[in-house]
Amino acid sequence: MNHWRDNVRTMVPYVPGEQPQEGGIIKLNTNENPYPPAPGVAEAIRNMDADRLRLYPDPSSTALKRALADRYGVGEDQIFIGVGSDDVLSMSFLTFFNSKKPILFPDITYSFYDVWADLYRIPYLVRPLTGDFRLRREDYYIVNGGIVFPNPNAPTGLCEGLDLIEDILAHNPDVVVIVDEAYIDFAGRGKSAAVLIPKYENLLVVQTFSKSRSLAGMRIGFAMGSPALIAALNDVRNSFNSYTMSRAAQEIGTASVLDETYFQETAAKVIRTREQAKKDLAELGFVFPDSSSNFIFASHPRVPAKVLFQELKQRHIYVRYFDKPRINHYLRITIGTDEQMAALKKALAEIIAEQA
Ligand code: PMP
Repeated sequence: MNHWRDNVRTMVPYVPGEQPQEGGIIKLNTNENPYPPAPGVAEAIRNMDADRLRLYPDPSSTALKRALADRYGVGEDQIFIGVGSDDVLSMSFLTFFNSKKPILFPDITYSFYDVWADLYRIPYLVRPLTGDFRLRREDYYIVNGGIVFPNPNAPTGLCEGLDLIEDILAHNPDVVVIVDEAYIDFAGRGKSAAVLIPKYENLLVVQTFSKSRSLAGMRIGFAMGSPALIAALNDVRNSFNSYTMSRAAQEIGTASVLDETYFQETAAKVIRTREQAKKDLAELGFVFPDSSSNFIFASHPRVPAKVLFQELKQRHIYVRYFDKPRINHYLRITIGTDEQMAALKKALAEIIAEQA
């Protein structure tokens, strides 16, 4: 009886941050952008023709691909588009990590990597970050089936330099190296590994519209790499689901990419607020790695992170807490508007005083 259970793929799934449905909360828990998407996005939605939804969308997302290729100075055959970077990363694991050798990623990192590895039965080895949450390049010199890490890292917010990334690439010419740049637009200019693509055929750079382009709700991500990598990704995707990108996603994504000024201004505002938040948190006694992303990973020497997390929630302020070894003293706080961050500072000051 019940033998169907023997054939079930059992998984411990990834757990995303809470998406509370009630209003009136300050939501700093899932690294969303506090500002709306580019004005052209609302216009694209207004101009959308319901009748055209009868028809399947362009399976190649041609217009969006062209806009991205122009924006990033690569060929259209160097762009792969997916349903958020989660989809792009998942397809990349399936496509490129098809070996018996373990793939490598840091111990403190995006907590979806081990889930995809388990899902696709990819062996993996975690390489612990240093005590101050830095990637050690030598950890990636061992024999492996591929490498993936976020830069800036999540949830630490730390950004590694291009020299480290290039060193890892130079030591690993026979595997695909994926740099997950979900937060790169908050790191300042010249940090993206995309400049290394012409030199390294095995480099895949993954980015998202969810953070810097304020489109988490639309689900758009993309990868840039050599035409050979992109062709392999397309073959796997087209063996899985060829119509991943809806008409709405394609039109909205294109409108977003075409407004470079708004994109730059919004990222700059988030960066300014982050730098002020660092000062405010330091004033309250918090310690944190020097974030290059749209969140700060902060720890208070006296008040446990779990207490802060719960107390903030009581006050309708949501941040993220990971009850995991090495990081359970930290809160990951998304950068909101100046007003939201001021409310956070006030609430934290109160909680810390109460816990004295
Ligand atoms: N990579 C990292 C490091 C992330 O933090 C996230 C956000 N959860 C993603 C990828 C996925 O983002 P999205 O699917 O919204 O593009």
